[in-house]
Amino acid sequence: MDRTAVVKVGAAASASVCALFGGVVLAQYIVAKKKRAGKKTRIIEMMPQFEKTTVHMKDHGKVEDIICGLIKGGASKLQGLLWFWQTKCSSLFQIITDFDMTLSKFSVNGKRCPTCHNIIDNCKLVTEECRSKLLALKNKYYPIEIDPQLTMEEKYPFMVEWYFNSHRLLVEQRLERDKLPEVVRESDVALRDGFEQFFDRLQQHNVPVFIFSAGLGDVLEEIMRQAGVYHPNVKVVSNFMDFDENGILKGFKGELIHVYNKHDGALRNSEYFKQIKEYSNIILLGDSLGDLSMADGVNNAENILKIGFLNDKVEERLDKYLDSYDIVLVKDETLEVPNAILQKIL
Ligand code: C5P
Ligand code: MG
Repeated sequence: MDRTAVVKVGAAASASVCALFGGVVLAQYIVAKKKRAGKKTRIIEMMPQFEKTTVHMKDHGKVEDIICGLIKGGASKLQGLLWFWQTKCSSLFQIITDFDMTLSKFSVNGKRCPTCHNIIDNCKLVTEECRSKLLALKNKYYPIEIDPQLTMEEKYPFMVEWYFNSHRLLVEQRLERDKLPEVVRESDVALRDGFEQFFDRLQQHNVPVFIFSAGLGDVLEEIMRQAGVYHPNVKVVSNFMDFDENGILKGFKGELIHVYNKHDGALRNSEYFKQIKEYSNIILLGDSLGDLSMADGVNNAENILKIGFLNDKVEERLDKYLDSYDIVLVKDETLEVPNAILQKIL
């Protein structure tokens, strides 16, 4: 073989090696790309908290879309802008949440935790006779509150009756305002696990948190204060006690908020609600179907993610909750799922 032939054979051989090598690299790239395509790419799948058995969703795609919309909006537009711009901006983010059995726990080790009302019902300032009357009212009306067969309209007058009668009994007890901190401290109330992370993150990012509760505002505020999370971005709309000049309970301020009139309450009572109605990206947290109307007054809602805690009568109520809430957390005493979502948004 002459020299030219050797060079040609050598060149052909190295070209084949190059082609082979290139082919292998290309094949590896294609396999890797395919593998990547099969990997988890949806936001929900990237959050291990969604794998918990407590998490239920009817429409995963819808939840994915809403969370993506919230992530796009973020909270950055909230900060450093003039008030005028904020209200004009289309993707302001806020939290609208219920309190009892939503931010507070429903049970610990199988033992029921108190609502704001129950903290007073069970405290030492209330006589035994009054306590048993309050308990009788609870035994009559709580089953109506959570009855899966009755509509909200049917429950409405019963709730008014419950609040009217129980508030009258509390006023008769001449409760002292100064004793409330002690009463709360001695109660079994507990906020859901992860509450510090929840409130601290929202404060850091300056996100408004609107607590809309049919509980007792004074008790609620004291719980938040003692937990160290009553930050300036938190606003409470609730039933506030009215005390006389000696600090003795004489009635309640404003219009009554009960479990099934949160829509009316929002529109009539709250100056704060008027301020925040332009905030179009919302996470709503509740434990009752009545809580769904908490965001009714918001004008241009773009993305609302509704997260519902289903604590009681689970089997009977799960279908309705799945129809109404985007994510239903069944017997889940934590804020892990809301916290995971907030971590993605903020
Ligand atoms: O914060 P939230 O709106 O959930 O507060 C309302 C709760 O207070 C209801 O779940 C209801 O069961 C409870 N309640 C109570 N005693 C009353 C009236 C309401 O425990 N007298
Ligand atoms: Mg509640």
